[in-house]
Amino acid sequence: MLADAYLLIAAAFIFGALIGSFLNVVIYRTPIMMQRAWDDEVLLHQHANDDAYELPDRERFNLMVPRSRCSQCGHVISAIENIPIVSWLVLRGKCSACKTPISARYPLVELITGVLFAVAAWRFGPTVAFLLAALFCAMMVALTGIDLDTQLLPDHMTLPLLWIGLIANLFGVFVPLHDAVIGAAAGYLVLWLVFWMFKLLTGREGMGYGDFKLLAAIGAWFGWQVLPMVLLVSSFAGAIIGISLIVFKGKNRRTAIAFGPYLAIAGLAALFAGPLMRL
Ligand SMILES: [Zn+2]
Repeated sequence: MLADAYLLIAAAFIFGALIGSFLNVVIYRTPIMMQRAWDDEVLLHQHANDDAYELPDRERFNLMVPRSRCSQCGHVISAIENIPIVSWLVLRGKCSACKTPISARYPLVELITGVLFAVAAWRFGPTVAFLLAALFCAMMVALTGIDLDTQLLPDHMTLPLLWIGLIANLFGVFVPLHDAVIGAAAGYLVLWLVFWMFKLLTGREGMGYGDFKLLAAIGAWFGWQVLPMVLLVSSFAGAIIGISLIVFKGKNRRTAIAFGPYLAIAGLAALFAGPLMRL
């Protein structure tokens, strides 16, 4: 029985590392895909009166194609060079063709996703809750990476996350539906209020609408009872990391700091330490 549990946890780690490898692609390509979609819309608007207008031909670019390449020399990453964590270590963090350093962020994302999946397997066992928890973890990793890079939390990720949480709790997977619906509404509303109060008082925007949607999603998954602790944990983590950035890296106090990653960390705490995070 115990051996089965360890096997499940080990399998979850490997599965998570593979998903982490895909999340690296999601983090890197999603902002580029969004930029291209915006550019296309602008072009279509500019040529709205020209029925014969066609968008310029571009290389297809999505999460599947083209294959991943070295950003320096264009060397196509082979399957053997794409084994999560292991390949980076074997290649000592360098491209096999041109020896340009490859960011440690890639194996780190794979490692973190693997560990999160393993913890989810340990916490939930072989259940539907585990699969949903793994999906939640993957989304938190992807949103964190994208927010750190671009200060964006894409709607096409936060909104489905919210709906999946509500549907899961339609069957009471994590919390009763009643708590989930109130959680979704309250999560959005509380940050919306903070945003407008901050803006009226200081004239600045302290966060983005994506943050409201992410907190709404966390409320939908784990109920309104986790929201006060989620806000406390994320503000606390944000304050500590924000102050260290100002002190150690000389960042300006006015530099916008992405809030999404801290919400994501607090969301993971709500997933794994539910009882401690609830009112
Ligand atoms: Zn290279």
